[in-house]
Amino acid sequence: MTKPVRTRFAPSPTGYLHVGGIRTAVFAWLVARQAGGKFILRLEDTDKKREVTGSDEHLMKSLRALGLDYDEGPDIGGPYEPYRQSDRLSGYRLCAQELIDAGRAYADPYSAAEVQAFREQAQAEKRPFLYRNHRPENPPTWDGTQPLRFKSDPKPYKWHDAILGDLSTGPEVIDDFILIKSDGYPTYNFAHIIDDSEMYISHIIRGQEFIASVPNYLNLYEALHIEPPIMATAPHVLGPDGKKKLSKRDGAKDVLDYLRDGYLPEALLNFIVSLGWNDGTEQEIFTIDELLEKFSLDRVGRSGAHFDERRLLWMNGSYIRELDLDDLYSRVTDYWPAEAADYDEAYKKQVLVLVQERLKYFAELPELSIFFFKDLPVNPELISGHKQLKKLSTDELHNLLEQAKASLEASNFSVPDLTERLNALLEQTGQKPAVLFSLIRIATTQAAASPSLADSLAVIGKDRSLERINTQLAAL
Ligand code: GLU
Repeated sequence: MTKPVRTRFAPSPTGYLHVGGIRTAVFAWLVARQAGGKFILRLEDTDKKREVTGSDEHLMKSLRALGLDYDEGPDIGGPYEPYRQSDRLSGYRLCAQELIDAGRAYADPYSAAEVQAFREQAQAEKRPFLYRNHRPENPPTWDGTQPLRFKSDPKPYKWHDAILGDLSTGPEVIDDFILIKSDGYPTYNFAHIIDDSEMYISHIIRGQEFIASVPNYLNLYEALHIEPPIMATAPHVLGPDGKKKLSKRDGAKDVLDYLRDGYLPEALLNFIVSLGWNDGTEQEIFTIDELLEKFSLDRVGRSGAHFDERRLLWMNGSYIRELDLDDLYSRVTDYWPAEAADYDEAYKKQVLVLVQERLKYFAELPELSIFFFKDLPVNPELISGHKQLKKLSTDELHNLLEQAKASLEASNFSVPDLTERLNALLEQTGQKPAVLFSLIRIATTQAAASPSLADSLAVIGKDRSLERINTQLAAL
């Protein structure tokens, strides 16, 4: 019988969570959900020096905001409580004692300086430093103030990684590692093995930084008579240069920052999965249901994935374009420019229809829509900096704008009528759209770009458009 699928995300509450860091959570969530299994959140807070206050809350909020709901966790409990390692210390001690009793763990008697001396000696002799070469013959009784070390049993290993495939190592990589530190807290190397076993975890899905330690873990699993879960090692997410591991400096923002800027959770999730995974086709946009159907660990790439924020931007824009108007309207509530408060829903929806095409994330909404709500002051640089318009004299500009005004004065401002008139104006003036339409656009919006001119004018309305053209004429 195969074991029920139970995956976990086991972050350390040491700071913010960038999109690379949350990727293993997305993978683990998908594996659990597609099998009808459970997804568990466990906080690995045993490195007290690195802990950042509040980051546990932040992690939980980030997971929920992305739609990565967990079935068991520190704030909701579950059958294998507690889900915070600092609350599980007595359990680790019990296992540690079992290992001591079985002759598989011993108190480390050396001072830091002594260990350093061993290390230097190995270096001088050009051989790798192995702690096990210095095992004390008669270790002191462990009183909890010394580090407790695993007494390893060096041997070769072959194992299968669900992402990296078949792997093997020789006995030389096995060493006596620390199980419990002198501060009484277990190391990750020890604690996660106990917890994964006690929480019946079926798959460990984690980052590449742990791969070198896996042989040591296999050695410890044997000593504890625990069958190792399936292991899946996700290669690093690399920064845009494709060389180094992604970091804050590469512009990888916190997940909540992206959501605050108006990235859609589903787009962000799609983007994160695509850091290393594809389904073997050219498809890039996947609905959650498609991901649940198609995702598999064995299609996660074995080499590092590139973080490219422009791709995220493109992806998010595609998701926004697919939203129906009511959905989009309800999602952008907090993003309108302040001036939009004076306008009703019908008007704002008209604006949304027009900007939806160009909106790549919601925080751009004010910039893209402000002129629908507010008369902006004339900005002379829009003409003086325009490739075509800067070549025209003031008289020519005046003349063109007067002709446009005359035609628009006679319009009913419906889109078809405006379209017809604008086209007729092209013929009448003998100008290209890049000249004439740009000029009308600048006069009526004071923006360098806008949705289609006829559509924009229809929404801005007749009185306001003509008033703005007059203001521009006066300023020429
Ligand atoms: N606490 C580890 C980390 O944050 C977890 C690794 C794992 O998933 O086992 O990197």
